This record gives sequence, C-alpha cells and structure tokens, in this order.
Amino acid sequence: MKAQVLHEYDPSLTAPSWVNLEDVPAPVIEKSTDVIVRIGGAGVCRTDLHIIEGIWKPHMDPTGHGLLPFIMGHENAGWVEEIGPEVEGFKVGDPVIVHPKVSSGTCLACRRGHDMHADGKFPGLDSNGGYAEYLGTSSRNLVALPRTLAPKDVAPYSDAGLTAYRACKKAAQQLLPDQSVVVIGAGGLGHIGVQVLRAMCAARIIVIDLSDAALELAGKGGADHLVKADGGEVEAVLSLTGGKGAEAVIDFVGEKGTTHRGLAMTRPMGSYYIVGYGEDIRVPTVDLIISEKNIIGNLVGTWAELVELMSLADRGLVELHTRYYSLDDANKALRDLHEGRISGRAVLVP
Ligand code: ZN
Repeated sequence: MKAQVLHEYDPSLTAPSWVNLEDVPAPVIEKSTDVIVRIGGAGVCRTDLHIIEGIWKPHMDPTGHGLLPFIMGHENAGWVEEIGPEVEGFKVGDPVIVHPKVSSGTCLACRRGHDMHADGKFPGLDSNGGYAEYLGTSSRNLVALPRTLAPKDVAPYSDAGLTAYRACKKAAQQLLPDQSVVVIGAGGLGHIGVQVLRAMCAARIIVIDLSDAALELAGKGGADHLVKADGGEVEAVLSLTGGKGAEAVIDFVGEKGTTHRGLAMTRPMGSYYIVGYGEDIRVPTVDLIISEKNIIGNLVGTWAELVELMSLADRGLVELHTRYYSLDDANKALRDLHEGRISGRAVLVP
C-alpha cells in the first residue's frame, strides 16, 4: 500500500520535505480483536509537526530504542476492511472513526474509561498510523459513524476534535450563563472548541486569534466577541470582563507567550486549560496561591467522549472546516499548516 513514512526528526522544521511516499506492506490481523480500516481521511495535526521536531520522542520512546521509521497520522476515519475472528458489532464496509489510543481493555485506566491513559500503542506517534491506505487498530477503538457523516469529513474529530471537546466539556461543566470563557487560537482545535462551548454552555465566548480568517470562522461558530491577537489581548479581555478576567481560559496555542497572557486574563479562582503546547509555563508560586487559579492539562479524550462528540456532529451542532489534500501531498499539507495557511483542518485523502 501507499504510505507517508517519517524517517528522520527535523528539530528546526527547515528540511525541504519531512515524510516520504513509499510502497509498504499493508497491516495484517494479528490479534483476534484486530481490525483493518481502509482510510477515508487522515487529519493533519500540529502534533505531527511536533513529532517531526522530536518533541514527543522522550515520551513515546523513553528507553531510546528508536521509533523511526513509522507512518504518521493519528486522526483517522474510514471503512472497516477486515476484522479478526472475535470482533463483534462491526462488519466489513461499516464507516468508522478511530479512537487514537489502542488500549488493552484490561488495565486499570481502561476499566475506569480513561482510554488515553491506558497502556498500549498510539499509532502515528509510536507506531504505524493513517497517512496510508490502510490502518491496523483494535475493535475497542472503533466508533460507528452515522450515515450523515463521511469519514473524510470527520477524521480530525478523532484527536483534534476529541481534545477540544474534552477541554471544553470540563470548562462547560463549571461555567454559568453570566460568566465568560476565552478561547485562545481558533485554528484546527479552537474552531471546534468554540462550537462545543456554544452547544454545551451559555457563558459569553471570547475568541482570540492572529488571523482574521480564523476570527471570522469563530464568529460563524458562535463566538460573542472576537479579539485580534495584536499584543493588547489581555487588556481587551479584562475590559470585556469588568476588569477581572474570564472564569475559564482555554489555550489552544500554548506557545509564543500565550501561557503567560492566558493566565493573566484568567480571573481569580478561574481555570486555565492548556491544550496547545510547546513552551514552559512560568508562574510565581505565590501568585497561584494568592489568586487560587487552576492550571488544567488535557490529553485527547475517552472513547465515550468520542461518542458524545459524534452525537453533536450528527445533529449539526459542530461542523469541521476542512481542506482536503491527496495522500501524495502530505508534505504540502504539513508545510501549509506550519506556515499558517490552513483555516480549520487539513485532511489527507488516499
Ligand atoms: Zn492530532
């Protein structure tokens, strides 16, 4: 099968190309509960750029044995192509979206429903992913797609959407109608987050972004206030919130100084949710004590949360803004993402 393979890290992201289009063996059923999915779409994620930079290497390869080469792509949807003898509830041809973490089902994290903290492979981060014609996964990972949703239109929900959903769900569970929530970064994840917040809570939604196109998209998604990231965004949020800051700030950027500004626009006793990543959070401990601000990490989401998100998508409450590329053009898609030319989400279609 055709696949885009990562052979080498590029910490400065300056190489002329990052993945290599190759003819490789297709995945095969190894365990009785394995499933082969024919890829309908594979989302292109900022995490893919961070993988290429080598940021994930110490986390995914703590023993330093080396993970490369592998096929990239952790946001996958498609159709069931082949099933192991013990797979129940799915048949060949069913449209599915794939939860990104291949979990065992028997560890404590799995049994508590925390799939993303389970032991197991993370295809596209530590093993072969979906920048390919076929992906090997487990029946535990599949969520059946309603007929209203085509795989290539929903693939990014499996990680980007799920991560945005989980963070926004946590915030929405705390937010009251007279309160405010700030979304920093209305790109691939943020534009989903705005719609999730609109669907799940009645707080005022303030969106900050550098790009006019992203702000326009956020406005269509239900944002109440749009703030251009021109250096005055902390003051802008303070003036929209009576000088106190927002009860919740969800940071989909996490680099280039947004963590400092995000915490500065969080109200005392408010919560700052970190989703995008790259820089260190530096805050004097005494400031956290005095303000009682919470800093909350977010990692993907559970299988059940993917089902919840698909329910929002099926009812048209959340819609992905996508741009399609052929699988052959993976480097172009990655480059466009790196250089800020994608509004919404890029999807590779084999
Ligand atoms: Zn992703």
